Amino acid sequence: MDKSQIFADDGEYIANTYARFKVAFKEGKGAKLYDYDGKEYIDCATGIGVNIFGINDEEWKNAVKAQIDSIQHVCNLYYSQPQTELAKALCNKTGAKKVFFGNSGAEANECAIKAARKYGNDRYGRNEIITLKNSFHGRTIATLTATGQDGFHKHFAPFLEGFKYADPSMDGIFECYTDKTCAVMIEVVQGESGVNPLDFGFLMELEKFCKERDILLICDEVQCGNGRTGYLYAYQAAGISPDIVTTAKGLGGGLPIGACMLFDKCQNVFGFGDHGTTFGGNPVACAGGISIVNRLTPDLLLEVQGKGAYIKNNVEHIKNVNGVSGMGLMIGISTTKNAREVAQKCLEKGLIVLTAHDKVRLLPPLTITKEEINTALKILNEVISE
Ligand SMILES: *Cc1c(COP(=O)(O)O)cnc(C)c1O
Repeated sequence: MDKSQIFADDGEYIANTYARFKVAFKEGKGAKLYDYDGKEYIDCATGIGVNIFGINDEEWKNAVKAQIDSIQHVCNLYYSQPQTELAKALCNKTGAKKVFFGNSGAEANECAIKAARKYGNDRYGRNEIITLKNSFHGRTIATLTATGQDGFHKHFAPFLEGFKYADPSMDGIFECYTDKTCAVMIEVVQGESGVNPLDFGFLMELEKFCKERDILLICDEVQCGNGRTGYLYAYQAAGISPDIVTTAKGLGGGLPIGACMLFDKCQNVFGFGDHGTTFGGNPVACAGGISIVNRLTPDLLLEVQGKGAYIKNNVEHIKNVNGVSGMGLMIGISTTKNAREVAQKCLEKGLIVLTAHDKVRLLPPLTITKEEINTALKILNEVISE
């Protein structure tokens, strides 16, 4: 198919919610993508942190294909081996006790919100959740409400009651805390708002604050989880023990999946009928997920840390760069240039990058090679320093 036909049909038939870059990718391998003209790109976006082992990843493909050849879907009225296996792998690796699977990050967070409210309501009549300013938790009404950015609280009123937005400090938390607070929800590294890791000292104090009051600590690791930061989950870098961890994006390796992991305290918060989904924990998505999680080994995580440090060191010195934030291969670049224009110019030169507010954001595959990184750095240098 001709790309101009794709652009025209998209304009005519797809809802106007995305300010798309004018490119359609046809195929790829690893960290390389090719458009309909055969032009090559280095992928530092991975479909927003999804294709963490790259495009067309053999091991993931084989796992998915094998599952498709046996059974493509069973609803959650019946047992499912891939679902059970993935849950077991996640629990063994994190210490979580139970997992609820949905199809996206927003759904994982919806589950966390429901779990926290039920936990608080059952015990204390508490139902308020504190989230942080500049957070991002998803696009459903509940997760939009949880998102601590005014820009997202337009058009769709009424939003939900019971959410408060704190500055990322204990003073901020105390300002929002009431005897109705049932949970605090955070991203250890805030992704969409500019790749900002939270202060670990703050996180440790927050953990203590929550424990003392039996308030649940929820870590939204939809973006920063699954090896992205050089840790299996970013909360592990901070040395805290959350009660609920949500994840999605990279977990499926390209298929839709979300997981809400319940730790000790709230493992039995749900009873029969309290929550559910038709597609969530689909066997094909879970089979892919198993092939991802099993490869997030300590060696790979160290490699991610090394590659992240290498990129950071090299980007810091580029002219017009004010600072580099992030952890591992989740990187935010603050520059004097307009981030969207940088992304556009990089694309023209064969490099795919993302933006996060006013920063350029890099989420390359964890398996990106040194040579690919160097090509990406060269293009970034040309575009940003010009
Ligand atoms: C992307 C993202 C979400 C939403 O995930 P979807 O799969 O798009 O619903 C939620 N939280 C964080 C931190 C994210 O980065």
